[in-house]
Amino acid sequence: MSAEDFTKAASRLCTACGMCCDGTMFQIVKLQPGDNPAELGRLGLKIRSRDGEFHMEQPCAALKELSCTVYAMRPTRCRLFHCQQLRRVESGEAAEHEALAVIVAAREWVGRVRDLIVQNGLREDGQALLDRFERVMSTPVDATLEPELAVAREALDQAMRKLRLVINREFRPPPLAK
Ligand code: SF4
Ligand code: SF4
Repeated sequence: MSAEDFTKAASRLCTACGMCCDGTMFQIVKLQPGDNPAELGRLGLKIRSRDGEFHMEQPCAALKELSCTVYAMRPTRCRLFHCQQLRRVESGEAAEHEALAVIVAAREWVGRVRDLIVQNGLREDGQALLDRFERVMSTPVDATLEPELAVAREALDQAMRKLRLVINREFRPPPLAK
C-alpha cells in the first residue's frame, strides 16, 4: 500500500473509531519536548501538569464526531500513534474492511460497557471510560441486599474484561503507549 493510500485508509478508519482519543484506551496523553502546553491549552485541550510534566486529559476536548479538530496542531504522541489495526493495514497484513470490522466490534463492546456503567448507577459525566468503570467497581455491593445490582455489577466486570482483551490484542501496540 502506498503512503498516500495508507493515509486515506487511516483517515477513514480513525473517523470510524476514535478510541485512542475518546477516553476508551487512554486516560491521559503525555506531552513531549516540542509540544507547547500553553498553545495546546488555548486550542481547548485539557492540559494539566503533574510533577513538572504536562499531559492532556482524555476524553480529548478536540474530538468532535470522531474527528480531530486540531489535527494540524495535535501533540507529538498523537502524531506518532498508530494502533495495531493501522499497522496491520499499512503492512498489508489486514485489508481495510477487516480492520473496520474489528473497530466496529470493539466499539460495540465500548457501548456495552458504557450502558452497563449507567445501569450500575453512574450517569454519563464525560470522564474516561476506565475512570468511570473504577468508580463503579470501588463501591461494594451486597448481593443479598441488592441482588439485581450485583448481577449488573458482574455483567459490567465481564464486559470490561472482554473490552480490555480486545483493546490489548487488537489495538494497543506493544512498544509505544500513547
Ligand atoms: S485506535 Fe487506531 S483506528 Fe482507532 S482512532 Fe486510534 S489510531 Fe485510529
Ligand atoms: S488532539 Fe486530536 S489526535 Fe490527539 S487525542 Fe485529541 S482528538 Fe485525538
